[in-house]
Amino acid sequence: MNHAPLSTIGHLIDGQIVADTERTQPVFNPATGQSHTRVALASPATVQAAIASAEAAFPAWRNTPPLKRARTMGQLKGLLEANADQIAALITAEHGKVLSDAHGELQRGIENVEYASYVPELLKGEHSRNVGPGIDSWSEFQPLGVCAGITPFNFPAMVPLWMWPMAVACGNTFVLKPSERAPSSALFIAQLALEAGLPPGVLNVVQGDKRAVDTLLQDPRVKAVSFVGSTPVAESIYATGCQHGKRVQALGGAKNHAIVMPDADLPNAVRALMGAAYGSCGERCMAIPLVVAVGDAVGDAVVAGLKAEIARLKVGPGTDPRSDMGPLVSRQHFESVKAYVDSGVAEGATLVVDGRTLQVEGHEEGYFLGACLFDHVQPGMKIYQEEIFGPVLGVVRVATLEAAMQLINDHEYGNGTCLFTRDGEAARYFTDHIQVGMVGVNVPLPVPVASHSFGGWKRSLFGDLHAYGPDAVRFYTRRKTITQRWPSAGVREGTVFSFPSSH
Ligand code: NAD
Repeated sequence: MNHAPLSTIGHLIDGQIVADTERTQPVFNPATGQSHTRVALASPATVQAAIASAEAAFPAWRNTPPLKRARTMGQLKGLLEANADQIAALITAEHGKVLSDAHGELQRGIENVEYASYVPELLKGEHSRNVGPGIDSWSEFQPLGVCAGITPFNFPAMVPLWMWPMAVACGNTFVLKPSERAPSSALFIAQLALEAGLPPGVLNVVQGDKRAVDTLLQDPRVKAVSFVGSTPVAESIYATGCQHGKRVQALGGAKNHAIVMPDADLPNAVRALMGAAYGSCGERCMAIPLVVAVGDAVGDAVVAGLKAEIARLKVGPGTDPRSDMGPLVSRQHFESVKAYVDSGVAEGATLVVDGRTLQVEGHEEGYFLGACLFDHVQPGMKIYQEEIFGPVLGVVRVATLEAAMQLINDHEYGNGTCLFTRDGEAARYFTDHIQVGMVGVNVPLPVPVASHSFGGWKRSLFGDLHAYGPDAVRFYTRRKTITQRWPSAGVREGTVFSFPSSH
């Protein structure tokens, strides 16, 4: 392994920045279409070196008192806040999202670090005294060992912070593989974690692609894998990880619907939908790419309202404070989203606003696509069925709440959804019967706060436990139940052949 040349984004192994420069790929600035840096793509040997470092760090870290582990999280929170501008700039330079949105994602990540700092309380376990004569019993939650995380491009700082802070706070060590399309912020944050007092080897970062992921999945020293990304990859990672005897949680893609009822506060719903559909250029797994209007009058009003708001939407580089929406992440993704818009037109949906011709002056090589709005989308269409992950919003019209809910329940994804209404009874029926993991009522992006867990249903999540929050404590620990007898002096038990019971 060589030390990384300045223009190559490297790995963090055992507290040192290193890079194997044999395989690298360019990292692009989506606003300019230019690349000034490359990212190293780890070889199997590099990934194994990271796993070895994490394994070596585990015994001492496991035995470090939870309060001391928690204190590093407290320190890290302060460092993240102090370096927020720099981290947001790294996110925007590689992802393209506007700076205020990058700050928002970082803030959500910081809240996960803060929650991980409560770990002494979260790990207290369960205790029962006198379950039998002179017998006490308790359950404790022990760390697993080396855990791995594989993360997507669209929240390059936040999603890694969903994973490793709680994993290491619970006493595990970690190998993180960030997205090769937006690798810098996770690496920078890992360096801040070292500064916060995390011992070398407790958190390692390997940059790379499928080859690095395959090595993590096959290595028996890795005990658990957290994945967030697209559904085909999530499904395959879940299967391969389980085949190799690992605990796996794999969060996948989404196609989130918002229902608008006739009694909703329409101007408010329209404003909320604008942010939920076009914020981050639609590149959020909790974005709303589909509106289900209950009744034609609602459909007409929502389309008219959105059309007027889109006319005011400012698309431009994420570094410009006037921009509401930045570019898509890559040329390839830009072409893919544009092809979805073409397919919607070909399949007969009404393209009310066409963003395909947008040009941003001075950024002609950037991957900018204007907001697109379709009306009369039908459930059989590709733009209804598939995750587009771009600034494309489709309006579907139905006659009743039941019909709207049926559409959602029939869809293969079940990540997030939202109902806009003023009717408490309808809202209660909706939250009770909808087949989706994260549900909003008049809240378009119902992303759970750090003290609740995040996860979808159906093909949006493979595994049993959701990400972060209380589920993460369970995911990154395993229960051990201890039953202990200390008989009083002089009391001698006879031999017992029957199964121990309280009789
Ligand atoms: P992606 O699946 O292409 O990549 C995610 C990670 O997997 C990256 O680190 C990548 O290097 C790795 N990877 C890619 N192909 C692989 C393969 N064949 N084998 C092994 N590893 C592979 O996803 P993306 O484009 O980076 O992110 C966007 C997707 O992530 C969207 O589908 C979005 O909905 C989803 N996402 C889901 C959530 C959630 O919480 N459910 C959150 C954010 C993003």
